[in-house]
Amino acid sequence: MPKLETFSYLIISLHEFCQKEQKPGKQKSKYPYPDMFRIACNELALKMPYGTYPRTQTGLLKLFEQPVENWWPDGLKIPEDFDRSSGLLYDGKPSEETFDYLYTLFEGEFDVDKIPNSVNIQIIVENKQFRDLFLRLNEEYISGDSDRAQEEYIKLRSFLIDRPYTTATELRKEFTGTRCISNKEVGDLYEDCDRGRTYWNCDRCGPLFEKHGRLQGIKPEACRDHRQELDYVREIPWEQDLRYLKPGIHSRVCLPGIPEMNLWRSLQKLQEKYPKQLVSTHLWPGLDSYDMQLRFSDNSVWAVDVKDYRNPHRLGKKLTTIQGITEDLRYTEAFYVFPSRRLKWRENYIQIVRDRATNLSQETHLLSIPSFQERIEEKIQSLTKEKRK
Ligand SMILES: [Zn+2]
Repeated sequence: MPKLETFSYLIISLHEFCQKEQKPGKQKSKYPYPDMFRIACNELALKMPYGTYPRTQTGLLKLFEQPVENWWPDGLKIPEDFDRSSGLLYDGKPSEETFDYLYTLFEGEFDVDKIPNSVNIQIIVENKQFRDLFLRLNEEYISGDSDRAQEEYIKLRSFLIDRPYTTATELRKEFTGTRCISNKEVGDLYEDCDRGRTYWNCDRCGPLFEKHGRLQGIKPEACRDHRQELDYVREIPWEQDLRYLKPGIHSRVCLPGIPEMNLWRSLQKLQEKYPKQLVSTHLWPGLDSYDMQLRFSDNSVWAVDVKDYRNPHRLGKKLTTIQGITEDLRYTEAFYVFPSRRLKWRENYIQIVRDRATNLSQETHLLSIPSFQERIEEKIQSLTKEKRK
């Protein structure tokens, strides 16, 4: 096995290993170990200094919670983009860094064909389900009724963000009139809840799981405090045909969508208040060419994309200039905006993103979401003053 692959094998297999306890409230045995996990651990045991490889499973999982720079053996590589100050696990689950890195692997930096067929990573399979729906809508957008495709895309994606729990009745109600996607297909992005059980949701990070008598979110590192008395932690009472979002959809569609929808709602409020200055707002224009478009009364058009990433190095590398090729998508200013908690955790976050973003035009603005909101208000103010003159 080439050296870098031990790391990738470990990242992939840790997801497989941990997903066994993904179901809310259910704890299943972690045996037998997935094959890749065994292979990666054997390699680690060989390369770590004699006597330092943990003897028990508990010891091993504890080691994986430590920053990798503290224990990863010299003889094996860590990818340059992986943040060495992060552990592989956090509170018994893949850390945010591990999570994000898994997707980087599947986005083309790793030869997926090398993964044995026996590997079953639920979240990747589930994402493919969403991707297939997107591709069908995209086909309709390109060669059929593009307005309808756009409308149904907004409906689907905002539903998955706003409704981490749903019922068969609600799905039928929402998706009966849709032409490109059926309510059954949207329902397949959810799992059935167990009859009569109580479920919990966090308004900040979605469905919660019970672990050792407390509630845990899908990314415990990003959202930690889930005491039941907190106002953003809500009980979801049992009802007939209750379902919760599958973890792959939860982590890749719902979770990153929460700051997007919050920003979107604040923009809508501004537009209602100042319709003469902020003429129109559009969500996911061009079937998600970017996140939001703002049209102002002086004919300026702003294109905005929200990015919620832990690691600014990897984010910077991914960023490219926002595409505004068609008339509808053309813009005069472009913005990448980041939730402010990302900037609080990491000094120079924006500077690191900028330095790494070699495929990004210098004119693109990089801002925290609150700074971006201030920028819009300033713009509205200046348009109001111009009008008065
Ligand atoms: Zn939470």
